[in-house]
Amino acid sequence: MSLAVEAKNLTKKFGEIQALDNLSFHIKPGEIYGLIGPNGAGKTTTLRIICTLILPTSGSIRIFGVDAVRQAGEVRKEITYLPEEAGAYPNLSGYEYLEFMAKLNKKPNVNLKDVIDEAAQICGLGNRLKDKAKTYSKGMKRRLLVARALMTQPKLAVLDEPASGLDVLHAYHIREIVKRYVKEHGVTVLLSSHNMLEVEYLCNRVALVNKGKIVVEGEPKELKNKFSSENLEEVFAKVVGYA
Ligand code: ATP
Repeated sequence: MSLAVEAKNLTKKFGEIQALDNLSFHIKPGEIYGLIGPNGAGKTTTLRIICTLILPTSGSIRIFGVDAVRQAGEVRKEITYLPEEAGAYPNLSGYEYLEFMAKLNKKPNVNLKDVIDEAAQICGLGNRLKDKAKTYSKGMKRRLLVARALMTQPKLAVLDEPASGLDVLHAYHIREIVKRYVKEHGVTVLLSSHNMLEVEYLCNRVALVNKGKIVVEGEPKELKNKFSSENLEEVFAKVVGYA
């Protein structure tokens, strides 16, 4: 079976800025893989290349065996992307937004109402789904967008800071949902996060990105052992050089 993601020697330059510098990694189907790293390390750039939103300057990227540069259209059918800063259409209600996105991404033999019901359960917005998105708090909008990203059960969900801005309980709920989707629906997840607790709890494997390169990679437990650290925060500090 093809790897879910196979990134080889990715580089990305924005003018003089070298955002990615020979970055390589792979993700197996059904894995939750986390990118961590300091601000400006290249995490979002990597996610955007994988989601076919920007092109690499060089290197190759394959999603389930399909070339994300040459066959971007094919790749887009199999993935969803939750950007770090995303908004819903302010004048649509939460329900209308989910309905619109479900229609846009509808797969054959899938019942639209089932997809929307599923999304309603994921976001847990209850009655507030009938209100316009512009009346939602930041966390409520995030929950709506996470629901949008998972409801169609993509082969690969790319989540940039999925629980950003959520309170403890809702962040917990979203993490449980992500885990459930992987287990029950075979979704593969690539996420980026600054929350080490989240990464440790969710991810099968983690890559620490610094200055556009992967500097260490492995299972959270393996990394903690390797760096004699109690948690991933400590690993991070040691590797990036603050401890
Ligand atoms: P953060 O944790 O702060 O979100 P990140 O690891 O996601 O950071 P990126 O957003 O990938 O970092 O940025 C990597 C580098 O590329 C940074 O130096 C950033 O300024 C630069 N960069 C990203 N996008 C652009 C762009 N569109 N134009 C110019 N430079 C960019």
